[in-house]
Amino acid sequence: MSINALADKVRAGGRLTDAEALDMYLSAPTHLLGLLANEVRQKRHPDRTVTYIIDRNVNYTNVCVARCSFCAFYRPVGSPDGYVLGFDEIVRKIDETIELGGGQLLLQGGHNPDLPLEWYEDLFREVKSRYPTFRLHALSPPEVLHISRLAQMSVPDVVRRLVAAGLDSIPGGGAEILVDRVRTLLHCYTKASADEWIGVMRHAHRAGLRTTATMMFGTVETPAERIEHMSRLRALQDETSGFTAFIAWSYQPEHTELQGVEATAVEYLRTIATARLFLDNFPSLQASWVTQGGKVGQLSLTYGANDMGSVMIEENVVRAAGAAYCMDEIEIVRNIEDAGFEAKRRNMHYEVLGGPIFRERQVPRMLELAVARADGDTAVPAELVNYPARSRAERKRRARSQVYRTMSPDLAVADHKPWWKGARGEWFVVAQVVLIGLVFLGPRTLAGGPAWPFPFPHASMVVGAALVAAGGVLLGAGFVRLGSDLTALPYPKDGAELVETGAFGLVRHPIYSGLLVAGFGWWALFVQGWLTLAYVAVLFVVLDMKARREERWLVEKFPAYAAYQLRVRRFIPFVY
Ligand code: SF4
Repeated sequence: MSINALADKVRAGGRLTDAEALDMYLSAPTHLLGLLANEVRQKRHPDRTVTYIIDRNVNYTNVCVARCSFCAFYRPVGSPDGYVLGFDEIVRKIDETIELGGGQLLLQGGHNPDLPLEWYEDLFREVKSRYPTFRLHALSPPEVLHISRLAQMSVPDVVRRLVAAGLDSIPGGGAEILVDRVRTLLHCYTKASADEWIGVMRHAHRAGLRTTATMMFGTVETPAERIEHMSRLRALQDETSGFTAFIAWSYQPEHTELQGVEATAVEYLRTIATARLFLDNFPSLQASWVTQGGKVGQLSLTYGANDMGSVMIEENVVRAAGAAYCMDEIEIVRNIEDAGFEAKRRNMHYEVLGGPIFRERQVPRMLELAVARADGDTAVPAELVNYPARSRAERKRRARSQVYRTMSPDLAVADHKPWWKGARGEWFVVAQVVLIGLVFLGPRTLAGGPAWPFPFPHASMVVGAALVAAGGVLLGAGFVRLGSDLTALPYPKDGAELVETGAFGLVRHPIYSGLLVAGFGWWALFVQGWLTLAYVAVLFVVLDMKARREERWLVEKFPAYAAYQLRVRRFIPFVY
């Protein structure tokens, strides 16, 4: 069908197929897309109202085991920059939000294994007992899934308990692109596959919650995959009618592992216009001024958006990736009204609450967004001791559970990581060096006598020379064949880390193992230490056996790891 025929179909109220939406997205002139999207918006919202909400984005923790490659916000478990907000800090943020006219928190955070279901329940109850009418728009589908894995409880049960504790609705975060190929590349498949994300939302809608839906675009997906993403949302909306709004934002690449470039304003506007045409069962479409800035956000209102999102008050995630726009209520309203619309305050269900609050009473100006915590504040909330989710016993219990391992490989890897592969892994290497030194010196040397006697000096020289040569070959092979790929492992990050850090990493890495073999060769050549060689050989065999067992488990959990493993094995088969 031609673009004009598709435009006629839209104007007649017809539903675009995936292929037709893709045609429009790729080929329709930008002004036509905008014109059509504006017409569709006007049909749905004829009163020229543009809504916004006053709420606060609170990221309760930045510790995350998911470690998506597009995320600049998270900190790994054990990081000194990791934080968990205390209940008192969150309560204080609520007080500030209420002062600015807000009535809701958007509460999201990392997948922190220290926070079990009970922590969320206690927090929600605490908030609701203090502020009964205050709304909690909290926990994106991957967070719900993470909590269910941690608790080893089904998603519907977790949703039921969270709702009983005070959850009011679920934000649509963590959807990124609902295509598993893309999710695998972004290392967010294990936090929630496309089906799992949809599944959590289905359960939430069935439990009576209304939710939003999001799309983060501009990473590694194709235009067809963006349409596929919308198509999955549209299908679920046909089934449940539980989505209140669709929000698209562009990937922010700064400080992320993935890097790349940000989508342009035109790409953003084309995307939301296409969404307005394609998502014919979504009542609202939000403008993302947080990633696009106020001016493009304002322009979005003529490309299908009927909502300016949130005043936000606080933001940490997008800011970590380089975008730092700020608009308080006065500025949001100015942008809406200047574009020829009427600004109305709303709640999370997109019900209009009234006009701008600053016209009703004095509210403080907000010239920059707050942050979760001041830099350098490393306080650990006192109540965390009540939640022993990360205790040794709990970790062991979880690690023993096959169900849990299969469901949450990221979390399982975090739990499973033995001490010598964590930060203390380097101490293991130091301990090895000391041990080798002791064996080499021998008790007699330490006692003031000569070094160990070596019965076959010539033979050990031959062995030493052979090891030096082997080390040289390994090094050469490593450099020539791997080249710059050697450490460039986009995923799986946990798996790669297991290989590249700690003692196993040093022993099994092509370059390091070359250095190691060559080093011990020199040692044997000059010092002729049979005991040293014997120690190294035993160490190699033992570590290799353990590493192989580890790898079998990793390959099972991370199919992508197998590719890395094979790549390494290609050049160094005699060590691996
Ligand atoms: S996007 Fe969310 S789940 Fe992914 S690493 Fe960042 S905080 Fe964790």
